[in-house]
Amino acid sequence: MNDTNPKPRAVPRIVVVGSINMDLVSGVSRLPRPGETVTGSDFREIPGGKGANQAVAAARLGASTVMLGCVGDDAIGRRLHRSLKENHVEIGTVRTAVGTSSGVALITIDACGENTITVIPGANGQLGPADVVAAEASLKVADAILVQLEIPLETVAIAIAVARQHNVRVILDPAPAGDNVSGDLLQVDILCPNAAEAQQLTGVTINSLADASEAVARLAERGVGMPVITLGAQGAVFVSDGRVHHVDSFPVDVVDTTGAGDAFAAALAVALIEGRSHHAAIRFACAAGAIATSRMGAQPAMPSRQEVDSLN
Ligand code: ADP
Repeated sequence: MNDTNPKPRAVPRIVVVGSINMDLVSGVSRLPRPGETVTGSDFREIPGGKGANQAVAAARLGASTVMLGCVGDDAIGRRLHRSLKENHVEIGTVRTAVGTSSGVALITIDACGENTITVIPGANGQLGPADVVAAEASLKVADAILVQLEIPLETVAIAIAVARQHNVRVILDPAPAGDNVSGDLLQVDILCPNAAEAQQLTGVTINSLADASEAVARLAERGVGMPVITLGAQGAVFVSDGRVHHVDSFPVDVVDTTGAGDAFAAALAVALIEGRSHHAAIRFACAAGAIATSRMGAQPAMPSRQEVDSLN
């Protein structure tokens, strides 16, 4: 990616290729042991999925945003569609997979904030290379595509290939981390793992800023255009002009850190397309991530443009 964007845009055009889930969140006083039944205290359905979260964040930050994804032909799928639409995300390329359930995450949280999470990909697993090819017209006019790893890897790979073919910048959030992220997938303009994912990608144990700096430098050596490692309350480190830089986080009252990385990735894309410097774009992204931690849930917690501008 170029250090400065040659054609900054008033309204960034972003295509998100990724997952759409419903988070089914239950509160319990303590987590059940295997075979045990406990009575919960509350239950919420909160739209999530890394792809959909990033799409909602990008739209709230002012981007014209297209979602390329798959939901099931069930009531949850219809609600997921509606949530994207209400957030002004274009859903013409969200396919309903017949005979398949929508992606869900079963989340149980105890009184201490400890949780168990079971993700059932459902329709997200049906998003295939053919869906990417069918959406080529949208992809080729985008300023950037955002991809994550909650959909089949072959779909991620073809989305990256199509974007590169049309000179569209690629931002990959390599989450959730796995052993299957090959060198090819790292050949993107921007890679933004969190600390755990960066550790898995580089083999560097990250306990300090110095460790994170070493890890991010290794990612740069492996051919990533601009690697960025997000560090929760410690902000983020990134490589630009061959040097490692650190940006502090913004102090906030943390309620729930779900979706912080998604807000960060979307905000980074928007800021870079708008022509900000790398440093200013990472700062903007840190502000978006911080705001996401100050509210409950994933999609509902994504920040508005006004909120990020005033914190930043
Ligand atoms: P993920 O949600 O993918 O695990 P992080 O936890 O690293 O990613 O969060 C992404 C970004 O959100 C961080 O780089 C930071 O800017 C912001 N952020 C996350 N947690 C906090 C926090 N406790 N206080 C302030 N900002 C935070």
